[in-house]
Amino acid sequence: MNKFKWYDAASVEEAQKVVNSTVSETIQPEADPNASVFKAAGIDLLDLMKEGLSQPGKVVNIKNIPGFDEISFSPEKGLILGANVTLSQISADGNIKTHYLALHQAASQAATPQIRNMATLGGNLAQRTRCWYFRSKDYFCFRKGSSTCFAHIGKNEFHAIMHYGYCVSVHSSSLATALLAFDAIVEIKGKEGKTKLVPIKDFFVLPTVDRTKETILGPGELITSVILPKPVSNWKSNYIKMGSRKSQDWPIAEVAVVAELSENVCNSAKIVLGAAAPVPIASTLAAEAITGKTIDDITAAHAGKAAMEIAVPLSENAYKIPVFETIIKRAVLALAKPPGNTKNRGLQGTKD
Ligand SMILES: Cc1cc2nc3c(=O)[nH]c(=O)nc-3n(C[C@H](O)[C@H](O)[C@H](O)COP(=O)(O)OP(=O)(O)OC[C@H]3O[C@@H](n4cnc5c(N)ncnc54)[C@H](O)[C@@H]3O)c2cc1C
Repeated sequence: MNKFKWYDAASVEEAQKVVNSTVSETIQPEADPNASVFKAAGIDLLDLMKEGLSQPGKVVNIKNIPGFDEISFSPEKGLILGANVTLSQISADGNIKTHYLALHQAASQAATPQIRNMATLGGNLAQRTRCWYFRSKDYFCFRKGSSTCFAHIGKNEFHAIMHYGYCVSVHSSSLATALLAFDAIVEIKGKEGKTKLVPIKDFFVLPTVDRTKETILGPGELITSVILPKPVSNWKSNYIKMGSRKSQDWPIAEVAVVAELSENVCNSAKIVLGAAAPVPIASTLAAEAITGKTIDDITAAHAGKAAMEIAVPLSENAYKIPVFETIIKRAVLALAKPPGNTKNRGLQGTKD
């Protein structure tokens, strides 16, 4: 890891001022004196620095900015999550569990309890892909500027089954999968101090648009909060993660479903797949398969099959297709009341 200058920011303004100023002396030859990064909990950032993927001259600690870790909810306005809200806070919040269940489930099942206690929402959305070729110093991959995506010819069991360009990495944020299902909005403070509100569907960037990054964030741009719309009375949601281990790992497949139901008839639905593509994907085919229909075993299974119509597996990851079909079916079915029962079906998924 290169040496760098450390700054503790006491406010958003101070963090941006430091990031936007240049460093007067070079810290170490390999560090980029003008490159500055924000550090929240540092879980992803320190890995990137240790892997040599990020060599900043300045690290600006935003973890202690007062008020940056607050959650506010009202039935009229919806939910506002400060960028430094931790995954554990999201998991423990009663309003989130009641009104935005899929988000509660995504946060509760990510990583490990220790990581969830530290990891922030902003850092979770801005984390880089965990593609092992991208993360390895030994591979100069397509995302780093070469013409080769090693996953095409090498080990690709955890890679994309939906293709949007040559890079077949998958996005690592489970929270993004749930937030896209709720049509969340990301509040970003730009370099010049201007605030912009970006629908989360436009926050992630496909490699066909820019292979060097996964989000629209530019230098010095800071996520300040994430806003979710007010809950609708007949909303139901669910999230399922399938991993190779019960805990401690990113998903190999995950799905978040948010639907408006009248009894068991689906009026509208959003079905989002994570770990399927380089960005979270809202499957319109899956949503169409259940919209206007009664949710039962057959329609739920149709949703899973429909979502996978556009899947094209790589040499080692065809197993992901039945996994997605199954978790989509389960996630959809869990929204419905089973015949003769007044309660919704039990929720599925893993939790440590
Ligand atoms: C073993 C393990 C298992 C994991 N499993 C999962 C999982 O199942 N699901 C999942 O979603 N994640 C998983 N993670 C990832 C983990 O959740 C993220 O690394 C973490 O959320 C990053 O948050 P952070 O606060 O540490 O971010 P940092 O490491 O501090 O920052 C990450 C990046 O975001 C930028 N950044 C941070 N805050 C902001 C901001 N407010 N505005 C703009 N940019 C910002 C930083 O500059 C940096 O580039 C796992 C991690 C580990 C180590």
